[in-house]
Amino acid sequence: MKPATKIRFRGTVARLSDASAHLESPGDTVLVERGRPRLLMIACPCGCGELFPINLDPRAGPAWRLYSDPRRGVTLYPSVWRESGCESHYVIWRSRIYLFGRYEDEFDSTADMDEVTELTESIRNRLPSEGLTSFYDIAESLDAIPWDVLTVCRRLVRMRVAREGKGKQRGSFGRA
Ligand SMILES: [Zn+2]
Repeated sequence: MKPATKIRFRGTVARLSDASAHLESPGDTVLVERGRPRLLMIACPCGCGELFPINLDPRAGPAWRLYSDPRRGVTLYPSVWRESGCESHYVIWRSRIYLFGRYEDEFDSTADMDEVTELTESIRNRLPSEGLTSFYDIAESLDAIPWDVLTVCRRLVRMRVAREGKGKQRGSFGRA
């Protein structure tokens, strides 16, 4: 099967055992929700044919944050890494699947979206003049998708308006 480049959201089920019937092609996704979001099941986008569960429930262990609405599509934060099977690593952002690299790598070449660009001024105003703030904290304060914020921060660095930390501070930004 060919790798998927987009998430296809197939709906919400209450039980994990009901999910697989909706997962036919790579990138197909079902939300398992009982009282609160439990799991996102994805037919592995690489095309290996395996189902890939992503935990969304902090009470059940390390959890991913799901951003999902009709306007912005499906986003997961942080990136997801399969530790078994095909060991694929994905960034899922606005229903698009990026099958490469670490999140620190550039993936904004296709992200020339007005909505993302609209965040520029608010993000710029939140960059500290001393020290650094992580793009995730900026996203939280704006109720924005972290990958949107990271993309804008990187653009601001290229415009020499912002600076990015090095090493462990990668992903943290301040005013240039
Ligand atoms: Zn796979």
